[in-house]
Amino acid sequence: MEKRAEEVFTEEVIEIMRSAIAANSNHEVFFTGYTGEESKKVEDAEAVVYGNESMTPVFLEKALSCDVVIHNHPSGVLTPSDPDLQMADTLMNQAGVGFLIIDNAVTRVKIVFYAPGIQGKEKKLLNPQELVSLFEKGGKIASKLSHFERRTSQESMIGIIAEAFNKNEAAVIEAGTGTGKSIAYLIPSIYWAVSNKEKVIVSTYTKNLQEQIYSKDLAFLKKCLEIDFSYALVKGKSNYVCRKRFEETYEGLKDLSESGLFSMEDGERLKVFESLKTWIEKTEDGDIEELSYEMSRVIGEDIRASTDLCLHRKCPFFASCFVNKVKQKIFTSDIIVVNHHYLLAELSMEFEEIPHRILPNFTKIIVDEAHNFKKAAYSYLEDEGSFLGILKFSSRIYNSGRRGKAGELNLLIRFLGEEGSKTADTILSKIKEEAIPFAENLKKKINSFFEILKDKVNQTLKGSESHIRLKGDSKNFEPLLTLYDNIKTTADAYKTLIDEILKYTRLLPEKFKTDNQILIKSIDRNTRYLKDNIALFQNLFIAIPDEAAVWIALNRKNDNLSIHRLNLDKTVFFQQTLFKEEYSVIFTSATLSVAGKFKQFSDEIGLDDTVEKKRVEKILASPFDYEKQVKIFIPTDISSPFGSDSLQSPFIKNAFPMIKNLIDASKGGVFVLCTSFWQVREIKNFLEKQQLRYPLFIHGEENRAKLVSDFKKAGNGVLLGTDSFWEGVDIQGEDLRMVIILKLPFRPPSDPVAETLYELVEKRGENPFIKISIPEAVIKFKQGFGRLIRSKTDRGVVAVLDKRIIEKEYGKNFTASLPVKKNQWENLTRQAVLFETERFFLKNGL
Ligand code: SF4
Repeated sequence: MEKRAEEVFTEEVIEIMRSAIAANSNHEVFFTGYTGEESKKVEDAEAVVYGNESMTPVFLEKALSCDVVIHNHPSGVLTPSDPDLQMADTLMNQAGVGFLIIDNAVTRVKIVFYAPGIQGKEKKLLNPQELVSLFEKGGKIASKLSHFERRTSQESMIGIIAEAFNKNEAAVIEAGTGTGKSIAYLIPSIYWAVSNKEKVIVSTYTKNLQEQIYSKDLAFLKKCLEIDFSYALVKGKSNYVCRKRFEETYEGLKDLSESGLFSMEDGERLKVFESLKTWIEKTEDGDIEELSYEMSRVIGEDIRASTDLCLHRKCPFFASCFVNKVKQKIFTSDIIVVNHHYLLAELSMEFEEIPHRILPNFTKIIVDEAHNFKKAAYSYLEDEGSFLGILKFSSRIYNSGRRGKAGELNLLIRFLGEEGSKTADTILSKIKEEAIPFAENLKKKINSFFEILKDKVNQTLKGSESHIRLKGDSKNFEPLLTLYDNIKTTADAYKTLIDEILKYTRLLPEKFKTDNQILIKSIDRNTRYLKDNIALFQNLFIAIPDEAAVWIALNRKNDNLSIHRLNLDKTVFFQQTLFKEEYSVIFTSATLSVAGKFKQFSDEIGLDDTVEKKRVEKILASPFDYEKQVKIFIPTDISSPFGSDSLQSPFIKNAFPMIKNLIDASKGGVFVLCTSFWQVREIKNFLEKQQLRYPLFIHGEENRAKLVSDFKKAGNGVLLGTDSFWEGVDIQGEDLRMVIILKLPFRPPSDPVAETLYELVEKRGENPFIKISIPEAVIKFKQGFGRLIRSKTDRGVVAVLDKRIIEKEYGKNFTASLPVKKNQWENLTRQAVLFETERFFLKNGL
């Protein structure tokens, strides 16, 4: 692929490379390049090798920490030579580093995505039988575990994945709870990676599963398999602390503490930074998640690593940088565990033809918790801008509020004053006379625009509504257009002015630029973010295409207005990035099928009939004996939950006392799964009034992990949860012995994404309720049911208080999707349900 230089590099980088090539008498120069997070262009470059010493270990070590390696062909012919291809192969295969060839005048760029390591080599195929034999008596796994039990489903899964890897096929596998699916996909992945010297990517939705795979499953297999393999858990850059940013902020706070401007709030921050300092000296990974929630909230965005603010090789902490350590880990690992967002970031770069990757080349991908893959794609690919975001960026650049001294422009003024040169004076007057008045003017305009916009939104919202969907070419906000245009033009001009000022800083002495590089980069980044956030509000005034969900939301708690835009048609994106000829993608989860079929899931990820790739679809049963382990009750004399929830509705009047009675019957150990926070709140009020004897744990009152751990500790707790509590919670044993499902989990039709999807489906002549609502609700229902039985010895009761499951035709989709037989569904009166529940618990000694 060949591109024009301006499409790939910034003006500054082109200049750096031209000068270096000229200084080397037009001979070969190798550069390391770094790509900007937003612009996706190479924004920084450094000449690292002059002449043809490219493959030396020193060069490779430098190259592995950058995004792209660039070198010139003095002949002007950009075709890669054999040594070029060899280097491109090493860099891309092992570290995801791109390889670019330029002409001496830096006008054209050849992007080399060549990977002979993957495309040219003959593959060493897996032998499914051999892999399964690990579980046979005396096999490497069976012999390491004293109470090992073979699981047919697990062994079948290994065979399916091994075959799919061998034939570059896709597989969609629903593996029931207890199958041991992570071990089942890790075994073929490890053997493939080691025998083919190729990395395998394992992607999950939740952190819990990532941790389990990394700390438990892979560690276990490493002990058992007696083969030499390595693995890494990799997160996005912003998950790691940037040592340089930390030091700068810490030093800044210490400086401030000696001045008269030091406030109580600054004092608190300084204390947090002092304990962070101790942590940074001890931590191995610099992973911000290791910190307590409170500490990571206080430090906010100040110390996270960010591509746009990184100094790369010029950073004094380069050698001990946590982000670079992660890059090294990727380089040396066979199995790379990531989350769906990380994988999607990689796929997006490929889709947008960005000349480097964040992951090395791979052809085998395991997508676990695949039922959430589309949701993750929607969240990753959604554009969002907000009033508070705009205020935050504008205050970071300049803030006159805090004794007139806050914001990055004020810092720059201080440092320029200390510099005292003529150029510094020119920049100083530009900031003081032009940029600051501009910033103040823009802030006033932002505040008055959003005041009027909030009024307009408030007038349009009905009752408790919190969002307005924008569709077609609605003229709802047209009266605000002139005001908006004015802000947008001002923000664009502000960015141009800041760019001009930052350009001047290039003329300052090297020492000044090095000392203040992060500050300069941060001003550039924050003005860009400010401009982009404002630009998103343009959606209020433009025609919206059918396939885009666009909405404006008002958060009444913090009075924030936000705008969202999401293009719903992701078929082409998935098809072009996931289903390439040389790829095998394995989608797996405990809940992918609806009434025995995978149609809904396959359509969601674009694996439809237009995709040529062969695929295997399989449901692998759970090894649990659900007939003995679980009872499912549906009270028949309860009202149906029609219409919206209210304390006056007959359903709520029946359901709330029933919940209380069921909790008493099980003596706690209950999850009540709701479909809204209103239900959570009202059930809590009701149970408190009824003086419930068991400890209550309320979704939203504490963070999720703490709620789950406190619930486990209590042993007889009652957890009221919605949405995220329907899945991903693993509580084995008696601590959780009953799950109450209040209503079938249909997504509210007022959700703007759902609403747009329904309209799209309707336009295609299909019924959105059948096509989307039911399958979505079935998957969630299966997840909710799956909270109860987590091991072979678990016993318990599921009570479904929504009798539409037996009265409505569509109810069969729910009942036929659970791993239980028809005769296990007991439809009884409320009284009989309570009696049978008590009997079941008595019989099972619970
Ligand atoms: S190399 Fe970049 S991310 Fe690492 S510490 Fe330095 S500035 Fe921060």
